[in-house]
Amino acid sequence: MCDCAGKLKRRCVYLNNRIMNNPVISKLGAIEIQTVSWCNSGCVVCPWAQIKDAVPKQSMREDTWHKALEGISALHPDRLLPYNNNEPLLDKNITSRILDLRSISPQAIIEIATNGLLLSEELSDFLVNHTDIIFISLFGSDEESNFQLMGKGMGYNRVKHNILSLQKAKERNNSDCFITVVKIMNYPPVSNDVIFKDWIFWEDEGINTRYYNFVDRSTNVGDFNQRDHTLKACGCDFNRPNERTFIWHNGDVSFCCHDWRKEYIMGNLHANSLIDILNSEKYNLIRDMVDGIADSADNFLCKKCFHCKTGIRDSGYPSKGKTE
Ligand code: SF4
Ligand code: SF4
Repeated sequence: MCDCAGKLKRRCVYLNNRIMNNPVISKLGAIEIQTVSWCNSGCVVCPWAQIKDAVPKQSMREDTWHKALEGISALHPDRLLPYNNNEPLLDKNITSRILDLRSISPQAIIEIATNGLLLSEELSDFLVNHTDIIFISLFGSDEESNFQLMGKGMGYNRVKHNILSLQKAKERNNSDCFITVVKIMNYPPVSNDVIFKDWIFWEDEGINTRYYNFVDRSTNVGDFNQRDHTLKACGCDFNRPNERTFIWHNGDVSFCCHDWRKEYIMGNLHANSLIDILNSEKYNLIRDMVDGIADSADNFLCKKCFHCKTGIRDSGYPSKGKTE
């Protein structure tokens, strides 16, 4: 007689024991997954514009996706994000992948962040019914500023239209999914007056806007040097290496989304399970480096990051930890 059910049960007990015995994994809150490797925008506030010529356009293979699902099934994080430094709507399988996530982790919050260019009526209906949070990046406040901030092809009026249609889809479907327009403020080359110009419009439409401070993603954008990299690392504002993990389209796993250039790959799902990667010596050493328990080089990703504590006094934007 076949013992598949028994084997699966034993496997689940084994995995659960491993999770419960590891204090780091048991509190992992979120997993981000890059299902395609590229973006169709060229935002000046994002590292993508600087690395895109070196990145091949590739989709996550089905076997890699299934390895990611295995990891999610074992960990059941609170939040699942089917994007990671990319534009998720470029994935022609994004709807079936969201359904897969919902089916294996029904309790999880599914969040998507998009530039909104490819939002169609059909896709909008799908997203408001099957995701919980939708962030749409629309950094400018009119055609001219959006061109300046998000690049060619990112028509402000087109995306604005798509966001309004998404809101209608939400109403039509009686959805309680949370829609938010995302803006970046305090980006030195562009005045905040420009960024705030359409705030009233979105307010009148009943659509939430969220304004994030510009962060240079560990010097991956421009030459802003927001943190003095010679200062010791003393922990992450977001506790990133413990709070979430990041899966790239080829199965590589990173400890932080700031690793745009993939300099700190913790492992690959085709070689090890997600649990084993999260529990590896390599990952634990990185956690100690982020917290300053283990030494790290001056050019360590976190030492160049605005969100890395200095342990002395965080002096705030734009030169955290700098003494001049
Ligand atoms: S911020 Fe988002 S939309 Fe803009 S280039 Fe980066 S990944 Fe693409
Ligand atoms: S300090 Fe910055 S680079 Fe380091 S884990 Fe946190 S967000 Fe990432």
